[in-house]
Amino acid sequence: MSSFLTHTPTSEIDEIYGRLQRTYKSGRLLNIEYRRQQLYQLARLAQENAATIEKALQADLGKPPFEAAGEALRIIESSLDAAAHLHQWAAPERPSLAGPQSTWDASINSVPKGVVLVISPWNSPFTLTFNPLIGAIAAGCSAGIKPSEHTPTCASLMAQLVPKYLDPEAYIVVNGAVEETNALLTHRWDHIFFTGSGKVGKIIATAAAQLLTPVTLELGGKSPVIVAEDCTDVDLAAKRILWGKTSNAGQVCVTADHVFVVRSIAPVFYEALLRIYKTFWPSSALQDQSWSLLDRTRGTVIAGGDGDGVRKIAPTIVTGVKTDDALMEEEIFGPILPILEVQSVGEAISHIAQQPAPLVIYAFTESEDIKRKLFAETRSGAIVFNDVYSQLRIQEIPFGGFGESGYGTYFGKASFDAFSHKRSFVNIPSSAESSFASRYRPFTEEAYDALKAKIGQHKITDEKSLES
Ligand code: NAD
Repeated sequence: MSSFLTHTPTSEIDEIYGRLQRTYKSGRLLNIEYRRQQLYQLARLAQENAATIEKALQADLGKPPFEAAGEALRIIESSLDAAAHLHQWAAPERPSLAGPQSTWDASINSVPKGVVLVISPWNSPFTLTFNPLIGAIAAGCSAGIKPSEHTPTCASLMAQLVPKYLDPEAYIVVNGAVEETNALLTHRWDHIFFTGSGKVGKIIATAAAQLLTPVTLELGGKSPVIVAEDCTDVDLAAKRILWGKTSNAGQVCVTADHVFVVRSIAPVFYEALLRIYKTFWPSSALQDQSWSLLDRTRGTVIAGGDGDGVRKIAPTIVTGVKTDDALMEEEIFGPILPILEVQSVGEAISHIAQQPAPLVIYAFTESEDIKRKLFAETRSGAIVFNDVYSQLRIQEIPFGGFGESGYGTYFGKASFDAFSHKRSFVNIPSSAESSFASRYRPFTEEAYDALKAKIGQHKITDEKSLES
């Protein structure tokens, strides 16, 4: 296993793109059994190499074995889920047609978009590369795969394992950084699936627009958590929030970026957080210099705050943070939890509603009124109550951002749909000719009158529905 990343020579990228095109055009990816076999192979890749994947994640990111094993498990589960449902997802939909169209043959067919590109970030390198790839395989696309250069051990391992387990003519890893990505972007892909920062997302979407390439952007942002005054189990809320904030060292797109706690329960919440903190880390994890954002905050560090001055930082809780604090400037993407006190949930909602739409809004509350108000008065990719992250465990609901946190979705069938084009098929029988009689020239008064009569025939009854 090497931590040195061999960049794919840019001179090879044209050939790789050509190979992916040829494979797609060969038609073999249209075969559903071929796709299922590739999905099983991807599950095997993750299962048989789980220990090596764990070591690579440890080498690049210092991931604890428990979290690293989770990456391999998610790939296995998602691949098997796609293989199990593929026939059902790929089946044409036959809408029932009304009136004269009822005899027509019409269907909606999921066809592969074609040759696609998956670009992934460093924070969960295997999951965020292979989960979109599962959608591409399931949909019948060939794919270029561009992992992050910031996790070189993981990216090297992917380049080694992908051709060993998957069809090497259909799924090809291209390693490198900006130069290699730019070389990839000179080609016309049929879809680009990008996961990463908003800054780079704009570069990708701009390049794609030149070639009218559709894009999925899975971006980040500052996902807030609200702890409402009616929160019945503050200990549990504190435990779940602290777990979420420190999983993967807070380097998760859906992490709890910061907390709004209603002032009346703030002291109880802080006390619970500190108690839980001591159970998670019985002795001090790190002791060294502090980190630049923490130097600039005007809040109070009540736990953690230590780091090695280079890459590591202890899980840190900061209270007394105001909305104009350094910690509120951009996505934190680390294990620092700023807490802002608010007079009411309404005050938190007003602040959130003025910010760019986050990937998720979390709230700890049992109140149906608060849930309804939050849902109605804010915008985000998702809204989750009484836990953090658990939405990631549901394959059946699409995952994705909104506004500044991105567009397009994936997970489960949504992954298949992201890489599929819904192609309409319509066949009009010659027996339909009698219903077309009036459409041909010369137009007659009689046909015109019949058409006008139809306009008047529709009963539009919205007054009633508005009253009720
Ligand atoms: P990044 O945007 O810096 O990099 C992502 C990819 O883009 C990498 O493969 C990188 O090589 C490439 N890239 C970087 N600069 C480029 C450029 N100038 N031109 C072309 N390509 C370029 O993101 P990152 O730092 O690796 O990841 C962290 C970000 O990703 C955070 O903002 C996080 O919230 C977000 N994220 C989102 C999700 C999600 O599902 N929505 C998941 C994980 C991470």
